[in-house]
Amino acid sequence: MPGRTATAKGPKDQPDPFRSVVSCLLSAQSRDANTAAATKALFALATTPGAMLALSEGMIAAAIKPCGLYNTKARNIRRLCHVLLDDLGGIVPQTREGLMRLPGIGRKCADIVLSFTFEKDVIAVDTHVHRVANRIGLTEARTADETARQLEEQAPPWARRDGHFWLIQFGKAICVARRPKCGTCFLNDHCGYFTATG
Ligand code: SF4
Repeated sequence: MPGRTATAKGPKDQPDPFRSVVSCLLSAQSRDANTAAATKALFALATTPGAMLALSEGMIAAAIKPCGLYNTKARNIRRLCHVLLDDLGGIVPQTREGLMRLPGIGRKCADIVLSFTFEKDVIAVDTHVHRVANRIGLTEARTADETARQLEEQAPPWARRDGHFWLIQFGKAICVARRPKCGTCFLNDHCGYFTATG
């Protein structure tokens, strides 16, 4: 499978780590187009933690409305800015633990920022990666976070960043959520799901 493609999405296109983190926070349970609209509207108002804190929670919520959960996300953005400025000197951490100290940032978001923005050898686990890894039998995990932990134990560092894209593309093209194309799948000889159900 190809690795990262030219059209691959992620917060990497954001021009700085602060905007990457905020755009990742906005993407939770939101379609890409809605996240993009919310991100554009918000960053038209403020692009730094200090400028963001000059906005009221209501102003932030109104700007990010397209991405849903806007009240919670607006509250978390303000809390995140406070933590950044009060505890971290305004610098976005470059470790998973540091990123997960930020309100609204869980493991998936932290790993996406580490991989896309800081170019660390991390495999970020979204819904496609979680599904495919567990079907094939690379992992045996009920949650995406547990899948991420197990993949990290097994995957060599060089394979982690591209591995994210390999599994996503495979999951979108072949190992789709409903009716995976097992009959023509080149991995079916090695797949736990196929062996159990085929
Ligand atoms: S055999 Fe089916 S379930 Fe297994 S990896 Fe291929 S498409 Fe997915």
